[in-house]
Amino acid sequence: MDSLWINSTYNIDNFETLNEDLDTDICIIGAGIFGITCAYYLSKLGFKVVVLEKDTIGKKTTGNTTGKITSLHGLFYDYLISSYGEKFAKDYLYANEEAIKNIKDIIDKENIKCDFEYQNNYVYTTSNDEVRAIKKEVQAVNSLDFNCEYVTKCGLPFDISGAICFKNQAQFNPLKYLFGLCDCIEACGNKIYTNSTAFDVKVDGDYYLTYVSDYVVKSKYVIMASHYPFINFPGLYFTKMYQSTSYVIAIDPKKSLFSGMYINFTNPIFSYRTAKYMGKNLLLIAGADHKTGQSGAFMDTYGILENEARKFYPNCDILFSWNTRDCISLDKIPYVGSYSTSMPNMFIGTGFKKWGMTLSNVAANIIVDKICKKPNRYDYVFYSNRLKPVKNIDEFKNVLVQSTNSLVINKIKHVNTNFDDIKNNSGGIIEINGQKVGIYKDDDGKVFAVKPICTHLGCLLSWNDVDKTWDCPCHGSRFDFRGKNLYEPAFKDLEVFDLEN
Ligand SMILES: Cc1cc2nc3c(=O)[nH]c(=O)nc-3n(C[C@H](O)[C@H](O)[C@H](O)COP(=O)(O)OP(=O)(O)OC[C@H]3O[C@@H](n4cnc5c(N)ncnc54)[C@H](O)[C@@H]3O)c2cc1C
Repeated sequence: MDSLWINSTYNIDNFETLNEDLDTDICIIGAGIFGITCAYYLSKLGFKVVVLEKDTIGKKTTGNTTGKITSLHGLFYDYLISSYGEKFAKDYLYANEEAIKNIKDIIDKENIKCDFEYQNNYVYTTSNDEVRAIKKEVQAVNSLDFNCEYVTKCGLPFDISGAICFKNQAQFNPLKYLFGLCDCIEACGNKIYTNSTAFDVKVDGDYYLTYVSDYVVKSKYVIMASHYPFINFPGLYFTKMYQSTSYVIAIDPKKSLFSGMYINFTNPIFSYRTAKYMGKNLLLIAGADHKTGQSGAFMDTYGILENEARKFYPNCDILFSWNTRDCISLDKIPYVGSYSTSMPNMFIGTGFKKWGMTLSNVAANIIVDKICKKPNRYDYVFYSNRLKPVKNIDEFKNVLVQSTNSLVINKIKHVNTNFDDIKNNSGGIIEINGQKVGIYKDDDGKVFAVKPICTHLGCLLSWNDVDKTWDCPCHGSRFDFRGKNLYEPAFKDLEVFDLEN
């Protein structure tokens, strides 16, 4: 189902598809919040910018977020101080605090109506055993000369054991904000092309050539704002990140709601915020995280959120439910800067780890400063070509093991599902003449058959019965049951089999 944000935005398909070769200063690939924020700042500075979007504007991660604008990214600052020192942690914090102000300044300057509201943001626990971790985080944040509070009461409809609270954080409708920025970009004379997939970028002397079906965009700079870089080499980002999916429901609680934004920090994760929709005040509940490609059943995903909602709002109506995923780097710090040292004028911003509302603004400012040859004080925190020792060894092993399993072992593994065992409205992988075939049967038993091998790096796909999609357990690409590519890093569709012939 489409998200609350997509349902409350009307001009979503109003853009042209690229139909000519173009010459520009900067080519931006991807029209999510990162790409569009870069395009906004660069347009305002007078650069010629072309934005290429594979789908429609903001329909991917940004259109399915929860839209909290905050520098409180779970319990993070104690980890940052102990891993990288106080200066580093302070710069991460202040970069994100500046981003909140930048977003508000843009909204005011451009008069964007996007339901922006200041709110307190809390990370809470209901377990006495976890209070110590919260108090440690409060101490860590205060040591960075930033005021935060430890509280034992908040607006949630249940008791908490303790929480850290950041004041003057915010929430908004992310797509209304995005379309406000798009209007500004077009008012500066720049163009955004939708349904225009970039499938390659090549170096041509001092320029880059971006290929989109029959057309080429020539530019001095490229910003790969595709969420997950879709070019594998030489950047090798697929070895340094994984994708994690979360689910969201929006309910009409049928009774009055609290204020504030909330999230806990151990499983099961629940995140809460309110949102306005057609005169109603809705409650968003998000969580049920899992690595993309390893999805569970309905009861492990939306079911958990619905149960939680009904505990406190038994008569609620569930109006929207949706999910999306974000990239998480192994050290939990985004990658912002040049794609690789050998391609210095091609930039990326990725690994926003489910806090991309502020982090995309931080990233856009760093990239814009690079293009303008201006120093940026936060640049070093997010340095994209870093070679730090991996501290998160467990996660590193996970990424390697899963990639190897799917690339090698799963491909030679015998498949034990039979065609007849696959129920209607479900899918699975069978073997026909020694070849693996991905089968989906619709409600009427009509069969859709695809080659279940990811078009990114050849991993064996798995069936996602909640969304009726084929998902890649290695790097998180996703395809619909007809084989159409939905999510990167893959950008090509799956091969389709005609079983009748
Ligand atoms: C469930 C969930 C809740 C979240 N909640 C919050 C929150 O409350 N606060 C917060 O700060 N962050 C949150 N996040 C994170 C945040 O939503 C993301 O970090 C952010 O939206 C990422 O933006 P993006 O522009 O990088 O990616 P996207 O929005 O995915 O944009 C990338 C665009 O690139 C396009 N593209 C890809 N490949 C190509 C290609 N080859 N050619 C052309 N175009 C291409 C895609 O179609 C897409 O439109 C959440 C994430 C999840 C998963």
